[in-house]
Amino acid sequence: MKPNLGKVYLVGAGPGDPELLTLRAVRLLQKADVIVYDNLVSPGVLDFVPPAAERIYAGKRRNEHTLRQEQINSLLVKLAGEGKQVVRLKGGDPFIFGRGGEELQTLAAHGVAFEVVPGVTAASGVSSYAGIPLTHRDYAQCCLFVTGHLKDGTADLDWPSLVRLNQTVVIYMGLGGLPEICRQMMAHGAASNLPIAVVQDGSIVTQKVVTGTLADMPEKVAQAGLKSPCLTIIGEVVKLHEELAWFNPVQSEVAAR
Ligand code: SAH
Repeated sequence: MKPNLGKVYLVGAGPGDPELLTLRAVRLLQKADVIVYDNLVSPGVLDFVPPAAERIYAGKRRNEHTLRQEQINSLLVKLAGEGKQVVRLKGGDPFIFGRGGEELQTLAAHGVAFEVVPGVTAASGVSSYAGIPLTHRDYAQCCLFVTGHLKDGTADLDWPSLVRLNQTVVIYMGLGGLPEICRQMMAHGAASNLPIAVVQDGSIVTQKVVTGTLADMPEKVAQAGLKSPCLTIIGEVVKLHEELAWFNPVQSEVAAR
């Protein structure tokens, strides 16, 4: 019997700017038979995919045409079973809020060979392009990455750990829950004037940074009309944005999503 040489590469595409892809990611994109990609992957990244490669869009959240997670898992098993070199491309880093682990568990259960290629996660890519260092000796010695996708509205996060001093809290998927997050943090003892930033489309032309405090941020974000994807950064380090913002999307040669 011919050995099946199909393989799945779980690749991080970074936060948006294609320049943030790893060399390994670019090399794999160039030689893939098929790419299965998510909505967070920017078109500039897909420019590295040769025209002959098949592209499969795994869908958008809150969209009827989304492939369910189980469907994606079985699709990957099927494609690899056909002997293909499959790149499963995910925004940011596949192991950070990317369900990468779940997809690999299915592959492992089916004996499919795989590799993982890390990517620049939104916390580091977006904070860099917003000029907000996540740690700084004067302000934060610790940094937490949490999901703001609140199950049943609230009480899902460990609020007392989020309001500790001298730390930065980075919230993924926190746009919808922002008013509740700000309210809970203040209710658990965070200062109402604690600085907070919400960054939309970090590292690409449509990047927008809105800064404020826990007290006024929900209102400011609503006024600015920010849309997903947005990353929320909470902590004293946000003050540095004013001094360190360097990325000017209008003047930069960066891609749109
Ligand atoms: N695996 C990804 C995260 C997926 S969860 C990573 O490592 O980055 C999706 C969330 O990531 C979004 O809701 C948003 O909070 C954040 N995100 C990803 N790319 C972003 C970008 N360019 N700008 C702002 N937020 C981003």
